[in-house]
Amino acid sequence: MNILSAIIVFENLHEVRRLCHWGPIIALTVIAVCSSMAILDSIIWYWPLDTTGGSINFIMLINWTVLILYNYFNAMFVGPGYIPLGWKPENQQDTMYLQFCRVCQGYKAPRSHHCRKCNRCVMKMDHHCPWINNCCGHLNHAYFTTFLLLAPLGCTHAAFIFIMTMYTQLFSRLKTDYNRISFAARRIHHPIMPFSVASFAATLFALGLALGTTIAVGMLFFIQIKVIMRNKTSIEVWIEEKAKDRIQYYQTGEEFIFPYDLGSRWENFKQVFTWSGTPEGDGIEWPVNEKCHQHTLTIEQLKQKADKRVRSVQYRVVENYNGACCPLRKGFNTFLRTPCTEEPRIQLSKGETIFATRGTKWWMYGDKVLDEEQTKAAVRVRGWFPRRCVEKCLYDSANNTSASEEKKDK
Ligand SMILES: [Zn+2]
Ligand SMILES: [Zn+2]
Repeated sequence: MNILSAIIVFENLHEVRRLCHWGPIIALTVIAVCSSMAILDSIIWYWPLDTTGGSINFIMLINWTVLILYNYFNAMFVGPGYIPLGWKPENQQDTMYLQFCRVCQGYKAPRSHHCRKCNRCVMKMDHHCPWINNCCGHLNHAYFTTFLLLAPLGCTHAAFIFIMTMYTQLFSRLKTDYNRISFAARRIHHPIMPFSVASFAATLFALGLALGTTIAVGMLFFIQIKVIMRNKTSIEVWIEEKAKDRIQYYQTGEEFIFPYDLGSRWENFKQVFTWSGTPEGDGIEWPVNEKCHQHTLTIEQLKQKADKRVRSVQYRVVENYNGACCPLRKGFNTFLRTPCTEEPRIQLSKGETIFATRGTKWWMYGDKVLDEEQTKAAVRVRGWFPRRCVEKCLYDSANNTSASEEKKDK
């Protein structure tokens, strides 16, 4: 049934374009190299198919590959689930608790966020993953996490094969060189072809890939399973942290309870992992802790947004900037300390105004203040720029502008 539903999903053929991106190309290449090398090494040199162990080993390797690809493609093609364009809550009054997405022309349902890469509001968004060239969210969270578990397991098996192949082949070569007759009790078989320098190099390369994948993907798995056990997403971990900061900063005495934690790890786990493969819920309404209500989190997000606006500082552009990641003429430190993120850089021209919300010593991140027409067209220019290209505005007009922006929001 599962396999059938996976095949049906493939009818969305236009989704195949997701494969044309560096992430899936590299990921699939690594999977192909590791699994084919593990299978070749086993059959030819280490564990031939005519032994029982060899056959089991072979079946296991095929199994890993199939399971890994199954979860990988499902994570990519099922996708996270998107909030319908122009979505509104059933109860008109609830709109006051929700943020409005100007791109999707609809309200953001609880737990959803707008992804700039997917250009849609994503259900229970966790993050946009370049390796699957899609968002990880409500519908594919389980597939994604299962992939993160299986990939290191498969790679560990492959790494074992690579190490044993190299070890036994080098060992048996040494043995025959020195003794001519091997006394080792090990099973010696006659490989179909000799273990050449090229095969050694290929095996070593595959071993590097397998070990690297095990460590990197394994770490991601632990991060994901930790948040799933608390029924959170990586973004919500961040929101909760900011909520605590905000409450401490303003000493409001509120207590923020994360609403979606159902109190038991098993219950939380079952929300994401089900036998059918489809997670619980419609991706819009969520079961919440009894002390909270549907909009506990969205209200907190609105408070944080307002707070960010108050705390953002207005800057005037004093130097043009062409939007280069590592600009050559903006000083040595600006060049070297460019922020390591996929977030965009924005072009600046003298006289423009910017609201900065965060920054490093050499770079800042903020929103360009746009004219009426651009705002109406839902244009938003947001990104990084060198700190030396801007100058703090002396007058404090942050509040004025945020008020007028609020009007436009409505
Ligand atoms: Zn949106
Ligand atoms: Zn996305």
